[in-house]
Amino acid sequence: MSDKKGKLIIFSAPSGSGKSTIIQELLKRDFNLEFSISATSRAPRGEEKYGKDYYFLTPEEFRREIDADNFLEWEEVYQDTYYGTLKSEVERITSKGNNIVFDVDVVGGVNIKKMYGEEALSLFIQPPSIEELEKRLTNRGTDSSEKIIQRLKKADYELSFAPKFDKIIINDILDNAIEQTASELTHFLNR
Ligand code: ADP
Ligand code: 5GP
Repeated sequence: MSDKKGKLIIFSAPSGSGKSTIIQELLKRDFNLEFSISATSRAPRGEEKYGKDYYFLTPEEFRREIDADNFLEWEEVYQDTYYGTLKSEVERITSKGNNIVFDVDVVGGVNIKKMYGEEALSLFIQPPSIEELEKRLTNRGTDSSEKIIQRLKKADYELSFAPKFDKIIINDILDNAIEQTASELTHFLNR
């Protein structure tokens, strides 16, 4: 194994909390971060591209990757919709010495932290309220009202996972949440 392995930063939160927004901002900064592109069986939404946002797979292709034991972790995050981190993705990024950023559901986040311990920092991005979460999902304009309801239904369950994370970042004022996250990263990567 190479000795120039990067570290791991895990972001989890209910959908619409602002994870992607915060991650996109941090990727521009000088933290040597690279985004872990997950595989999913859901369809691309908005401007999403294969190999940039996700590896979009059919349910059959996703099943084949499971059977081949190619996932570090995977979850059926919503009914009939699968998401997972490919082992090859983690190796691709960490072997370059880059720090890897995961955007995963709360169960995946807790599992990855357990696997990597002190080499990983797990961050929970918390919305100020469920009402605000609904507003953000609606304003984002990428999901049908049915999909938004499905996501909101899961939010209470997901919020109950917050204490299992290393740090909780409240994303009320976006700039504050970004700076707080940047400060946690500086501390973690320099220690
Ligand atoms: P997630 O990746 O957690 O699903 P997104 O980053 O896509 O969430 O954010 C959901 C929506 O909320 C986006 O339209 C984004 O621009 C908006 N948003 C993110 N953070 C804030 C904030 N602090 N205040 C208001 N809107 C926000
Ligand atoms: P979205 O459909 O909004 O992109 O993602 C829905 C949920 O799936 C989010 O909570 C996101 O973090 C999660 N997710 C994305 N990729 C993975 C993954 O590889 N593993 C797990 N466990 N969850 C993921």
